[in-house]
Amino acid sequence: GSVLSVRALRKDFTLHTIDGRVVDALNGVDLDVAPGEHVALAGTSGAGKSTLLRCVYRTYLSGGGAIWFRTSGGHLVDVATLSDAEIVGLRGREFGYVSQFLRPQPRRSVLDIVSSAGVARGMAREAARDAAAAALRQVDIAERLWDMHATVLSGGQKQRVNIAAGTIAPPRLLLLDEPVSALDPANRAAVLDLIARLEETGTAVLSVFHDLDAIERLATRVVVLGRGRVVATGRPGDILRDP
Ligand code: ADP
Ligand code: ADP
Repeated sequence: GSVLSVRALRKDFTLHTIDGRVVDALNGVDLDVAPGEHVALAGTSGAGKSTLLRCVYRTYLSGGGAIWFRTSGGHLVDVATLSDAEIVGLRGREFGYVSQFLRPQPRRSVLDIVSSAGVARGMAREAARDAAAAALRQVDIAERLWDMHATVLSGGQKQRVNIAAGTIAPPRLLLLDEPVSALDPANRAAVLDLIARLEETGTAVLSVFHDLDAIERLATRVVVLGRGRVVATGRPGDILRDP
């Protein structure tokens, strides 16, 4: 069974122009993600990829359709209709979202940001610190940076801390929105390795990557969006070679 089943999903944005124009960002999207599967969204800029991830995480309220999520306890919930309090509960244990940018947390050290992400997902504090240290090593954040405020880090370092925090205790569903956009090739390869290993934990991944080679390397399936609709779906090799 699927962890995530998106059905006939719609999202309109009413732009604040003089004539209040409506942009249809999602126009009836259907999509499934199974445990251990990595579905990569592709399609031109403006196709609706980020909007889809944000509707699933409930950063945006969708405007029609359903977003079925199977919880670890086996309950089927519609993310689109849960209360805000229920969404907060679901985000804690079950959903992860990693964007390009580390959320500003000015008073926290790098190690604290990553280990508290583990605690939020149910790890004991001590285990979370060990796991955070391992995760930071894996994405090559030098130990001298661990006690610093994340605000002093470079864009690429912040992005690596962000992915370490997002993957420390892998959730059932991880949403990735261009998590390697600011990384040099060596760091990028280390982060892609880390994401590749999520498959073993059974985590379902729904991602947006700018680079086709990341999609080719990680995705079990590619879903191509065009103007808010699914226009193609298939294995990366087939889809990317013959779009
Ligand atoms: P992609 O991620 O595929 O580049 P997006 O999901 O960002 O596409 O955008 C899909 C459409 O929705 C675009 O037409 C975009 O301009 C519009 N859109 C996205 N976010 C907003 C927003 N917050 N307000 C208004 N329009 C938006
Ligand atoms: P449990 O079986 O302990 O209730 P689940 O694995 O079903 O837990 O759910 C994990 C999390 O998902 C819960 O902590 C809760 O926040 C959220 N959740 C579960 N069921 C629902 C529901 N029907 N409505 C909203 N949120 C739910």
